Amino acid sequence: MAQSFIRIQTHLMREYYKDFSKYSKGKKPEKKVAWVTAFTPVEILETLGISYYYPESYAAVIAASEKEQDLMQASDRDNLSRDCCSYSCCYNGSIDMQEGPRGVPPKPDVLIATNNQCNTLPNWWNVLAVKYDVPLIVIDYPGENMERDAAFDYVNEQHKSLIRKLEELSGNKFDEGVLNEFVENSKKSVSAWNCVLKQIPLKDGIVTLLFDDISFLITARCKAETSEMYGFLIDEIKSMPDADFSKIPVFWLGYPLWWHADRYLSECMDSYRIVGANYLTWWSLDYSGINVYEKLFTAYNYTFLNLQQRSRDKKLSEQVRASGAKGAIVLHNKSCKCDFVSARNLELPQAELDIDMIDRTYLNIDNAKCQIDLLKETLCTA
Ligand code: SF4
Repeated sequence: MAQSFIRIQTHLMREYYKDFSKYSKGKKPEKKVAWVTAFTPVEILETLGISYYYPESYAAVIAASEKEQDLMQASDRDNLSRDCCSYSCCYNGSIDMQEGPRGVPPKPDVLIATNNQCNTLPNWWNVLAVKYDVPLIVIDYPGENMERDAAFDYVNEQHKSLIRKLEELSGNKFDEGVLNEFVENSKKSVSAWNCVLKQIPLKDGIVTLLFDDISFLITARCKAETSEMYGFLIDEIKSMPDADFSKIPVFWLGYPLWWHADRYLSECMDSYRIVGANYLTWWSLDYSGINVYEKLFTAYNYTFLNLQQRSRDKKLSEQVRASGAKGAIVLHNKSCKCDFVSARNLELPQAELDIDMIDRTYLNIDNAKCQIDLLKETLCTA
């Protein structure tokens, strides 16, 4: 992998993890700390010099390090039932046991949750707020359920209130020009990432790489280096071998399997090539607007998971059509019902798998293989 790509990636990871217990040697972080959900307007936090961490992302890292079972059991015993979203079980087990592949993130000074993704998150953040006894800020995004102008006023007031509260917490003065710079960085990161995504149907096996590399669009989308890093990634991907076009093109509908070395069921999919994955487009946020406040509103009010079903179906159908997929592997995810419904109304043969993105034990591999083989039969005889 090209040195320039690795250099930026290493730098971003070192910055993100430097205050985790494994690296901080007991030192308190220099900045105030927020724990945030994956679609929080972090550009505001960056502007006010607040560090932010994503419990959901860390749960994925824990599963990728094969440490999720002990932590989920600990959570089941003392905290959350295994029926809850596995991200929450895995992460809460980690903070209860004070264990994780990179230690645990620094304690939060504030918790920020949004409902533009699911309603589990504000509830999970409530549990965290009780545990840490720190302020909880919940941002309510009405999505398409409110007329745009009214929705803008409603969301913008919450963003401005967030700015005021974080000014007070951090002691730093808000600067609109700086916020604008971070929003522009995010726009550039999204644009570079969208160019990366165009390579999926053309190259073999890059979906594993991209399931991991999208993490920077989540945790570092408003950093200046992120778009540059994705630029290097495109060059790298272009130098890889072309896809084997004799394989059946399929769309992956659902989360990456964080516990799997390849992040998808590669052992059952020899005859297939994955030409698209909806998860990889969730953070392609649309920062359009006439000023920085409208840009933030558009990006975070209209996230894919916050759209009405009709809009989701339309977007998803366009993506699937553009990818050239002939069928879909659909994950009926134990943790995440809002992810599963996004597969509705696709006029495409599908293999539907009962699975979980964190809990590797929630899978009957023979059933999954059977479903995937049946899909192949359907597509080959169609
Ligand atoms: S996996 Fe689904 S239920 Fe869990 S936090 Fe994410 S969106 Fe919410």
